[in-house]
Amino acid sequence: MPMFRRLLPALAALPLALLPACSPRVLGAEGWTFRLGETQGEVRLVPRQEFGVCSAKLVGCTIPLGHGCLVMLDRTYFLNGTPRQRTLLLAHEVGHCLDGSVLEYGHGSIGAQGVVYGEYYRPAVEGFAEAYARAYRAQCGDNLAPLGYGVGETCTVPDPRGVVGR
Ligand SMILES: [Zn+2]
Repeated sequence: MPMFRRLLPALAALPLALLPACSPRVLGAEGWTFRLGETQGEVRLVPRQEFGVCSAKLVGCTIPLGHGCLVMLDRTYFLNGTPRQRTLLLAHEVGHCLDGSVLEYGHGSIGAQGVVYGEYYRPAVEGFAEAYARAYRAQCGDNLAPLGYGVGETCTVPDPRGVVGR
């Protein structure tokens, strides 16, 4: 019995050890949650040096988590960005999240079309996320309330199954 008790803390510590990005500093940072259909997301504003699994050259990083994701946004970029920059950043990361949770990383069959947004978006995974961000903006403008940030009107966000680029 005493041995069993000693084992418990070690077992409880395992999941955190497997997810180096989910440091207590990231999970304790300022943020919010969103829910889109079955997909649930946690958003955290952190300095990009804390991204861990993603390059610190980026300003956003999305990690699959259960039926949703953990979205990390560079705190400085997000808070100082224009409304357009904020929307494109958050909706792009949400696009990655929905690509995983709804499309099983099928990228909406976008192929290399994302290159119209820039060379970075040529790979289908980035092209889909950016196409989702543009579709989001076309539908909801810079209203981020549907993604859990700020106050705004209700807006039905684009269905990832219908996003195929412009
Ligand atoms: Zn991306």
